[in-house]
Amino acid sequence: MRQYQDQEKRVLIKVVCNGCGRELQLENGIVQEGVFPGRVNWGYFSRYDGERHAFDLCEACYERLIGSFRIPVETEEETELL
Ligand SMILES: [Zn+2]
Repeated sequence: MRQYQDQEKRVLIKVVCNGCGRELQLENGIVQEGVFPGRVNWGYFSRYDGERHAFDLCEACYERLIGSFRIPVETEEETELL
């Protein structure tokens, strides 16, 4: 869950993990730890058709989530780190 200072969502002031409710470390609008930004625009074949969902997960909650998968996530090494 993200809170912004302005309506245009330019200045991020708070990021809270939707899974555990912990506030993530933020410095000058930049998250200082691992965060999974879940964003989806549900389409026609979904019962959520027309809805946009958003949530954020801290690394621990992300690990819990992917740990429940029957098939592991696909992992690749990033050659260029930003
Ligand atoms: Zn969490």
